[in-house]
Amino acid sequence: MRLTVIGCTGSFPGPVSPASCYMLTATDFAGRTWRIIMDMGNGSLGMLQRHIDLSDIDAILISHLHPDHCIDLSGMHVAVKWDPRGWPKGRIPLYGPAAINEYLSATHGLDPDPGMSTEFEYHTWTEGEPVQIGPFRVEPFRVVHPSKDPYALRITCNDREGHTVFSYSGDTDLCEGLVKAARGADLFLCEAAYQEGRDDALRGIHLTGKRAGEAATEAGVRNLLLTHLPVWNDPDIARAEARSAFSGPVGVAEMAASYRIYPRPTEAHPVTSTLNVVEVLDPPLNTAIALPKPELEELD
Ligand SMILES: [Zn+2]
Ligand SMILES: [Zn+2]
Repeated sequence: MRLTVIGCTGSFPGPVSPASCYMLTATDFAGRTWRIIMDMGNGSLGMLQRHIDLSDIDAILISHLHPDHCIDLSGMHVAVKWDPRGWPKGRIPLYGPAAINEYLSATHGLDPDPGMSTEFEYHTWTEGEPVQIGPFRVEPFRVVHPSKDPYALRITCNDREGHTVFSYSGDTDLCEGLVKAARGADLFLCEAAYQEGRDDALRGIHLTGKRAGEAATEAGVRNLLLTHLPVWNDPDIARAEARSAFSGPVGVAEMAASYRIYPRPTEAHPVTSTLNVVEVLDPPLNTAIALPKPELEELD
């Protein structure tokens, strides 16, 4: 299984990254490559097209209904509905909180019936009810965050490389659901929007790097990758906080980085020193899309 960071800036886009959006890819035993998108925050739809054709998306998973995690679905709807060449596939399976249809319809002033159900095949998360998407088994866990129906996601993958467990916190403070979602994960992608000593009065909303580390330790994860740092956070502080509470490898997510998540060590894939099951790769950029060079003209 491979994780590619499409966007990772917390709460709103920053100058070097869109808001939250991640892609998981895996190739099943029949040789078919599956691509699922987790969250689609502000600015991510554009960046996503540097990696894949939008029609290659197999499913979209939404952790909760805050704009920095889902607002670019409003543009995705346009891409599907109004492509003059015709959208080459059926509706995109979209998994999310119960109110997602109403939320997305409101972004375009649409009546929820049919809303965007002509472009998205809606599925609602139910805690304890996993869904299977190709080689990915996705299980939602309720977390603590001031949004209706927020979830962390636990994703297990059986593919040609073996059995791997990935966990994504969504947005949350420390809670039982987060630890359950992360239990024994090979890679735990966890938010760290707050900072110790600065945001101590704010509870029930986000994690600090230290609290992310505590969750990682309690859940017994192998690798911790911090994410959702807003523009005013210093990644070195978040990393140091996490290391004070978690003894395993800690990284901070970077836009366009791609991480291969290995199963538990074998002879073929021994433990390495940095993020020990995770290999940082060049992003699988979509070479069909060349960025135009600006041509500047003299103006009268
Ligand atoms: Zn957020
Ligand atoms: Zn949020």
